[in-house]
Amino acid sequence: MKVGFIGLGNMGAPMARNLAAAGHDVAGFDIAAQVPEGVDAAASAAAAAAGREVAVTMLPDGGILREVADEIIPAMGPGAIMLDCSTVDVESARSVAERARSAGVQALDAPVSGGIGGAEAGTLTFMVGGSGDAVKAVMPLFDVMGQKAVHCGPSGNGQAAKICNNMILGATMIATCEAFALADKLGLDRQAMYDVVSTSSGYSWTMNAYCPAPGVGPASPADNDYQPGFAAELMLKDLRLSQQAAEAVDADTPIGACATGIYAAFVEDEGGRGKDFSAMLPRFAARNRPAAR
Ligand code: NAD
Repeated sequence: MKVGFIGLGNMGAPMARNLAAAGHDVAGFDIAAQVPEGVDAAASAAAAAAGREVAVTMLPDGGILREVADEIIPAMGPGAIMLDCSTVDVESARSVAERARSAGVQALDAPVSGGIGGAEAGTLTFMVGGSGDAVKAVMPLFDVMGQKAVHCGPSGNGQAAKICNNMILGATMIATCEAFALADKLGLDRQAMYDVVSTSSGYSWTMNAYCPAPGVGPASPADNDYQPGFAAELMLKDLRLSQQAAEAVDADTPIGACATGIYAAFVEDEGGRGKDFSAMLPRFAARNRPAAR
């Protein structure tokens, strides 16, 4: 397929490289990053998208996505598909889709899970909002960049699925880490804690697949001095998006709100920026119970 790719950062570069390596004709643009091997450099976002069947975007946030959408939609032909893989707020995803539709362009929001490793290996999971026809049309691209694409419903629903998943992930990581820190203080060995919980009703992905305790469970960022992995500030971004969405639809999410506050303190005041989100364990391990709650 003829593909434009805008946003060639940590995630976008390997995704675009994989598309080119699979034989797709890819033109790429980024305001700062290098164009990866096999991708033709375009002079602007509009130039990368012009005349392409699909324009993929992989950008930092909803504000930038809206700006780029304003640039590329007029350059795209009727029937072309704008495929946004960034993680953004539901509102921006729906507004960009509406803007595209009014110009005869189809829009999909398709945020991913799997991180930089998944982008490099072509094993991402896509959570997709938009029309079934458009999803079918871009399936060959999902097949190269990922291992699974779930159609979640109309525009915005991909972002909704992503932030609900990551709200669970952030809260579960905190629960797992505070339990490990409590176990430490109760004199329980971390390996014993893992052996029990990973096979008991407290098990979770954060315990079983991404254990925050170094040397325990399968290899994870904890075994590499908490180098990300999935950085704490990206977890904070997704938690904030969950709270923005909850606010917009008047949903009560007390645990999500609490997790957002804890990651905000960790990233902004406690040196957590640049560390994996599982570095919540040494954070709890170094603390005592607050005086009054
Ligand atoms: P990144 O900052 O490495 O890449 C974003 C790129 O967009 C940068 O290279 C930047 O120069 C470029 N950019 C910014 N404004 C632009 C513009 N106007 N035109 C063209 N390019 C522009 O971020 P990333 O880690 O690649 O993440 C991209 C998206 O994927 C984010 O929404 C993030 O939340 C999401 N995501 C990231 C991960 C991860 O592990 N890194 C995992 C899942 C989802």
